[in-house]
Amino acid sequence: MSYFVVFQNKTFEEEKEGQYLWAPQKNNQGRGLFHWESMMRVRPGDIIFSMFRQHLVSVNLAKEQAIEAPNPFLNHETTWERTGWLVKAEYNELPNPVSIKEHREDILKLCPPKYSPFTRTGGGTQGYLFEIDETFGEYLLSLARKNNYLSVKEINEEEFKEIKEIEDLLDQTRDQTENERIVKGRIGQGLFKQKLLSRSSECEICGLDISSLLIASHCKPWSQSDNYERLDADNGLLLCANHDGVFDKGLISFSSDGQILISSKVEQKNYPLLNLNQQIRINITANQKVYLEWHRANKLQ
Ligand SMILES: [Zn+2]
Repeated sequence: MSYFVVFQNKTFEEEKEGQYLWAPQKNNQGRGLFHWESMMRVRPGDIIFSMFRQHLVSVNLAKEQAIEAPNPFLNHETTWERTGWLVKAEYNELPNPVSIKEHREDILKLCPPKYSPFTRTGGGTQGYLFEIDETFGEYLLSLARKNNYLSVKEINEEEFKEIKEIEDLLDQTRDQTENERIVKGRIGQGLFKQKLLSRSSECEICGLDISSLLIASHCKPWSQSDNYERLDADNGLLLCANHDGVFDKGLISFSSDGQILISSKVEQKNYPLLNLNQQIRINITANQKVYLEWHRANKLQ
């Protein structure tokens, strides 16, 4: 994961509103500038700190690599070229912005000698997007967290690599069921199942504890999830093959307090055959509730 600092003084509100960053490819002399070309180095999962009037005002998560896109600010009478780079990002605006001046000394120590985002007086360098190193990035993140609750959904490099590998396997022309089957197969050997196994080693419903028979089941499926949700342990339930099947098909779900909900499509005579009963209740965390809500609304039959 990489970190960046972006100066958006004139365009912050618009970029936040549209959940993106945009920089021109070339100036009116036809030259590219390093603080625009840095857009090309942004990868999904990177953190970008928005600076506005000498304050850190938003901590943003890059969602995708830069794509070529027309200038969205043409009404500002800028002299910029029409074509530029656009990076989609999730903005997390800080209710309590961090003053750069107040932390100037520490920040200056962390600035690189070349291409520094800040000047010796603590002001912003003329420029748009600056890559910073991990120590600097973590320091800014800690400043933001000091006075704000930050819900930035970070993923690490290993997670991103795994997601990329699975995505590469998925052929868009194949059908949804086939894709979900591929995901299930890959997930079963990967980080998602490891995360779930570190919480519990048995089926949440029946207690079966043969790990090779346990499946890491998504509440919100891969195809509907963003990269963070795809490997978020809170989006998962560890289930035996039987219970994974009924959960996946929406024949059962769970209420916000973990009470089982059995679809009317399952006839009572099948309850014992499926090892189900109305008394089943599982432990769920606060973060799991959101995913289960999705499952109830979209999957439960
Ligand atoms: Zn089970």
